[in-house]
Amino acid sequence: MDRRDHLKGTAAMMLASATGFGGGTATAGRKRHRRIGTEEHFIIPEIIDEYKKLGGEPRSNLDIENLVPAYVHPSPLLDRLLDIDQGRLAAMDEVGMDMQLLSLTGPGVQMFDSDRAVALAELVNDRLAEAIARHPMRFGGLTTVAPQSPERTAREMDRAISKLKLNGFMINSHTNNRYLDEPFFWPVLEAAQALDRPIYLHPRMPSDGMAAPFRGLAITSWAFGIETGNHAVRLIFSGVLDRFPKLKIVLGHMGEAVHFWEWRLDQCYEQSKGFLPHYRHLNLTPSEYLRRNFLITTSGQLNPDALVFSLKTLGADHVLWSVDYPYEVPKDAVAFIENAPIGDDERGMIFSGNSETAFHIDKA
Ligand code: MN
Repeated sequence: MDRRDHLKGTAAMMLASATGFGGGTATAGRKRHRRIGTEEHFIIPEIIDEYKKLGGEPRSNLDIENLVPAYVHPSPLLDRLLDIDQGRLAAMDEVGMDMQLLSLTGPGVQMFDSDRAVALAELVNDRLAEAIARHPMRFGGLTTVAPQSPERTAREMDRAISKLKLNGFMINSHTNNRYLDEPFFWPVLEAAQALDRPIYLHPRMPSDGMAAPFRGLAITSWAFGIETGNHAVRLIFSGVLDRFPKLKIVLGHMGEAVHFWEWRLDQCYEQSKGFLPHYRHLNLTPSEYLRRNFLITTSGQLNPDALVFSLKTLGADHVLWSVDYPYEVPKDAVAFIENAPIGDDERGMIFSGNSETAFHIDKA
């Protein structure tokens, strides 16, 4: 779809909205689209045991302070994360959610030492494949990755796609305060590109170097967005996407707002030419990388104006649905797309068409 088609599509959406089609809560008479959530989380007991050990360590970071407590104390949330069977399926059925693309909840195995992280990732991926085998029409899966050990995790990425038949990869932003544009991590990017599956770049709390101003700021979602949005901008400006031009990165939470910045990022790139010492020549403009290498999802960001802006900016083929189960409310996430001021073709692409393509999910 070229830019002119986007604009035409948007005009049609606006018209549909103005005439009431697609608005309100009524869905009667409309096609029922398959609903595939792409950022849906679980945990296994062995990971909880490892978090308990981290909680007892003297070292600290924002994740240990803010996230680990939620994983080591019993709660209804933890029960929902642990349930990869009947309770989860019932919650899905309640809102007509057809499939969840499951991923280990953040920050995955990325706080553990390399050997432990690699072993745990294999265990989680096996457990995930078993859950999918029990409910093949209801679950797909994103591979747990241990970027601490790039070569070994690249082999696991291959096993996860070719043998376990998982659908893509989950990486929770930084690993030991390092970012994926570093050559150290290139084997991971190379594997994802070769296997033709996206890396879902999920938030975790900001790395140690940017932690101080976030301490005591009890707004996790904002900290997540800053950390992960900055990671995405690093990928763009480092030039690493020239090395891996077919790499696909998925950003949750309405793209962590990175595409809101596209004009200003392009402007900054143009202005910096020739005088910034760390200026790097890129094959494309920042906004062109956004359209070529990135997809976004609607997890936990249910703002209809932001959705319409995203469809217009990136194209309807770049936006995927997700709930962020069990952290967000499934029925609200369903209603958000059902009631959005968009055309029904776009609705179908967002609910499942785009995720079927990106993650190689068999059409129902
Ligand atoms: Mn999430």
